[in-house]
Amino acid sequence: MNRKVAFYTLGCKLNYSETSTIARQMEERGFQRVGFQEHPDVYVINTCSVTDNADKKCRKVVREARRHAPDALVVIVGCYAQLKPREIAEIPGVNAVLGAAEKFRLLDHLEDLTRAQTPQVLASEVSEARQFHASYSLNDRTRTFLKVQDGCDYGCSFCTIPLARGKSRSDTLDHLVASAQDIVASGVKEIVLTGVNTGDWGIIDGKRQGRFIELARALDEVEGLERIRISSIEPNLLHHDIIDFVAESQRFVPHFHIPLQSGSNRILGLMRRRYRRELYAARVAHIKERMPHACIGVDVIVGFPGETDEDFRETYQFLNELDISYLHVFTYSERPNTLAVQFEQPVPAAVRAERSRMLHILSDKKRRHFYESQVGSVRQVLFEADVEDGSMHGFTENYVRVQAKYDPLLINEIKTVHLTGINAEGFMEVTEPEFQPLVHS
Ligand code: SF4
Repeated sequence: MNRKVAFYTLGCKLNYSETSTIARQMEERGFQRVGFQEHPDVYVINTCSVTDNADKKCRKVVREARRHAPDALVVIVGCYAQLKPREIAEIPGVNAVLGAAEKFRLLDHLEDLTRAQTPQVLASEVSEARQFHASYSLNDRTRTFLKVQDGCDYGCSFCTIPLARGKSRSDTLDHLVASAQDIVASGVKEIVLTGVNTGDWGIIDGKRQGRFIELARALDEVEGLERIRISSIEPNLLHHDIIDFVAESQRFVPHFHIPLQSGSNRILGLMRRRYRRELYAARVAHIKERMPHACIGVDVIVGFPGETDEDFRETYQFLNELDISYLHVFTYSERPNTLAVQFEQPVPAAVRAERSRMLHILSDKKRRHFYESQVGSVRQVLFEADVEDGSMHGFTENYVRVQAKYDPLLINEIKTVHLTGINAEGFMEVTEPEFQPLVHS
């Protein structure tokens, strides 16, 4: 009988794409992928170090795994596994911890791990994680996350990702085009280009061999591919030629997610970010000039050490005046082995919480304003498979979340719709010009 494996993924899109790849590798070797509660023989838990309380979350998932399958092999992989392998190995119920360089070799280690009597740690230094492991998610969602790049050479003072994922490295252009063709052949309509520092694409075998714009041009030619979304891109790498290219492309959608982190130049300096607010504002202005309907999401961190009321006020005002569509607000938390953890003037927890609250309200206001600006327009929606209380959801090309009456025929279909108004739940309601109304009644 086939052995069974179940997965649990914490964290970002990159982790989802990597879980999906490990799952495919295991299925190819005869494993049956099952749900978390279906008594698997092996659990693979893909962890994240950015998540607050990574430790607590990991413990909780391991406990749950043990409850459902007391005899299963529990393997922990991912960023947190790379950063704290010994700590994780001590969590009751963990059988093995695999670091960044080892996680894609899980199958090679599986027999040894199964025989071992004590928790095993296979985590080399992150500098060993030089190889690029191609990944994309399939069958998990309507959209596919295609990993184009991994690791980061930037050294922002608050960030542990370079410690967990190693140096910047990328998949080759030819291989990515081939992956995109396979994804299209499997019926997926939208590819989300994912990476740790996606815009830094092009470092292959330790040398810069290409630029992101070249990758964008090549993927834009993939026949049958309906939509390409760039997951997140550093402002200093979002050159105007990329913006112009997206504006002209039929496949790249007008949606940008651009980390800002702070609207104070002083704090940006302390964060060791590679741009200042003026450059950020210029990027937003150029996007809006070329694509007035573009959706722009912004990452921002509140409570960075030394962030005064004045710095925060600057951030708030900067964001308030900027033509953006939503925020992802992160509350700064101290991370071991970063530069920022040694900085003076930590911001009290209550102040961090209040700043976060204010930016969440600002984000709601921005999103509402953006949605309102879209009412009356005609857009394309890609409908997703989830059903909730008789409704289904989808996203327009410019990332407006649409709600419609459930219709299985719409799943994974792109439909032209009229955006008619925002409902009580904050979703856009739509009517489909040629067919029956999709309005939730
Ligand atoms: S760009 Fe900065 S924040 Fe982003 S992964 Fe690299 S070091 Fe971390």
